[in-house]
Amino acid sequence: MIQTDIIIIGAGPCGLFTVFEAGLLKLRCHLVDALPQPGGQLTEIYPKKPIYDIPGYPSILAGELVDKLMEQIAPFKPGFTLGERAEGIDQDDEGIFTLTTSRGTQIQAPVIVIAGGLGCFEPRKPPIENITRFEDKGVDYIIRDPEKYHDKSIVIAGGGDSALDWTLHLSEIAKEVLLIHRRREFRAAPDSVEKALQLAQKGKIQLVTEAQAVGLNGNGKLNEVVIKQKEKGSYNQRADYFIPLFGLSPKLGPMANWGLNINKNAIEIDTRDYSTNIPGIYAVGDINTYPGKLKLILCGFHEAAIMVQSAFKIVNPDKKLSFKYTTVNGVTGF
Ligand SMILES: Cc1cc2nc3c(=O)[nH]c(=O)nc-3n(C[C@H](O)[C@H](O)[C@H](O)COP(=O)(O)OP(=O)(O)OC[C@H]3O[C@@H](n4cnc5c(N)ncnc54)[C@H](O)[C@@H]3O)c2cc1C
Repeated sequence: MIQTDIIIIGAGPCGLFTVFEAGLLKLRCHLVDALPQPGGQLTEIYPKKPIYDIPGYPSILAGELVDKLMEQIAPFKPGFTLGERAEGIDQDDEGIFTLTTSRGTQIQAPVIVIAGGLGCFEPRKPPIENITRFEDKGVDYIIRDPEKYHDKSIVIAGGGDSALDWTLHLSEIAKEVLLIHRRREFRAAPDSVEKALQLAQKGKIQLVTEAQAVGLNGNGKLNEVVIKQKEKGSYNQRADYFIPLFGLSPKLGPMANWGLNINKNAIEIDTRDYSTNIPGIYAVGDINTYPGKLKLILCGFHEAAIMVQSAFKIVNPDKKLSFKYTTVNGVTGF
């Protein structure tokens, strides 16, 4: 059993910065995230996009901001449980919470901070009847390690940036890549579409438009995708992997059943300390809602700074907290 002062659900920018603010008050933190890496939306959706409204940085790439936050919190040695979803909570008579994850990991603390952003990202799946049978047996919704596709036959489905970018990238690694899209036009950046068309002309990839994957065949492991094309009709395409890239849709998930006051998929809080209706549970960042809420990184940072002052009193009911600047006390001298 892992024991800590604060369990933080969500290792996005606001969860990460909570570690820093808590650390200044000598509160230990353990982060849980369903994704395999920290950074939340910044890592998962837009790592290479510049952000212009982080104070002190006229421009910083989202991925770089995550690296800087990780560096900033390193002195406080936070614990991480990644790739596991927070599923359930229990509270004992002394007010200590036990959080259980999707893989059965248990973490105990007197305070929980929910920094779950838009919720857990879940892939949008195409309506193919037996698709779940081939998940991790040839069907992947997220590309984690491109090397896995080395010398393999791949069918990618989708028409957005993700589908086009991976088609271009995997065309250099895989044995063959076929991109299928249900419309004639792609939504992706024109530059990527142009590159894909050129590769198709040279015979390096196949582009099949006005088509859909309608079935999957294989004995235990995928070996064919059934494609239905407007003019050609249905045919079977040999494939080791089928990768539908239709985007990720966030879901509040199990937290919706914890007895928290929820308003349009967000958790209602008291703006005096960002506490929820359950004493000991707080919510910061995109996941919370209150009049005037702005879903911005800098607002989540502010919320974390205010919130830890209140959390301190739960962890240390007998201690007095005196406010100090980092310029006076440094980072670990509080
Ligand atoms: C394209 C794009 C551009 C943007 N540009 C800007 C910008 O310029 N400036 C700006 O300030 N903001 C911008 N934003 C918004 C910004 O990304 C969010 O405000 C920010 O990510 C919120 O941080 P967070 O830590 O609250 O949540 P998130 O970044 O969403 O992280 C939440 C984390 O919680 C995890 N999680 C959720 N539920 C669970 C659970 N049950 N168990 C375990 N883990 C869970 C998720 O996996 C996720 O990693 C942009 C957003 C997008 C999509």
